[in-house]
Amino acid sequence: QEKPRVVLSARGLRRDFGGFTAVKDVDLDVHDASVHALIGPNGAGKTTVFNLLTKFLQPTSGTITLMGVDITKTPPDKVARMGLVRSFQISAVFPHLTVLDNVRVALQRPNNLSTQFWRPLSALDRLNERAEQLLASVGLSKERDHIAADLSYGRKRVLEIATTLALDPKVLLLDEPMAGMGQEDVGVVSSIIREVARDRAVLMVEHNLSVVANICQHVTVLQRGEILAEGDYATVSQDERVRVAYMGT
Ligand code: ADP
Repeated sequence: QEKPRVVLSARGLRRDFGGFTAVKDVDLDVHDASVHALIGPNGAGKTTVFNLLTKFLQPTSGTITLMGVDITKTPPDKVARMGLVRSFQISAVFPHLTVLDNVRVALQRPNNLSTQFWRPLSALDRLNERAEQLLASVGLSKERDHIAADLSYGRKRVLEIATTLALDPKVLLLDEPMAGMGQEDVGVVSSIIREVARDRAVLMVEHNLSVVANICQHVTVLQRGEILAEGDYATVSQDERVRVAYMGT
């Protein structure tokens, strides 16, 4: 069995805001075909790390590599076109459109990474077929003709994930994808994420530790901008410093 390759990595990542260091000495390796969780208490630096990786923020020092290419100085739109996509970064749900039309719009965006779909009418059948496939893959086929605004909160988030997947990212960054969801939707989104990660990398900020335990192969724990622990969930959750700092036990 081939070892999963590292598709996104950071070395010595640091970000200062004035005299305050929000992220310091962060090394991170995100592997293909896996789900990687970034956890830690509020203010630990998780959002800043996401902003640095997507190049929304420029690191004070350190390097970032995407599929072997140094992207430390690459602008965010180019990084997205290279396949590193943060949910809600480029795609958005249009409330007045149907579920199906939202996915069709996402598939036709000029910055869509899967360029074979960015063609005029001749490719319409293919576009529709791909849209139906995407809806089926996230379990939204039954709601295909519903107006997006009428969906429940959880289903709306699922639609957002579908419009992000329309961009065919190689590395998908999810910022608290389960926030505010009921137990049932958490289960649905968990299995979508697991499915999505079969052939791409997912890095997610997640507070729900049972979700992390269930679907994440790698866990990185941040505290005050630095990595406190990393490894699989079993290893990390047994780490004494993690228990004290994060789980309060
Ligand atoms: P988390 O996502 O883990 O809650 P953040 O990355 O949002 O943490 O924040 C980490 C620290 O950096 C916090 O102390 C926050 O106040 C600080 N911080 C984040 N963004 C800025 C900014 N633009 N200017 C100043 N301080 C910031």
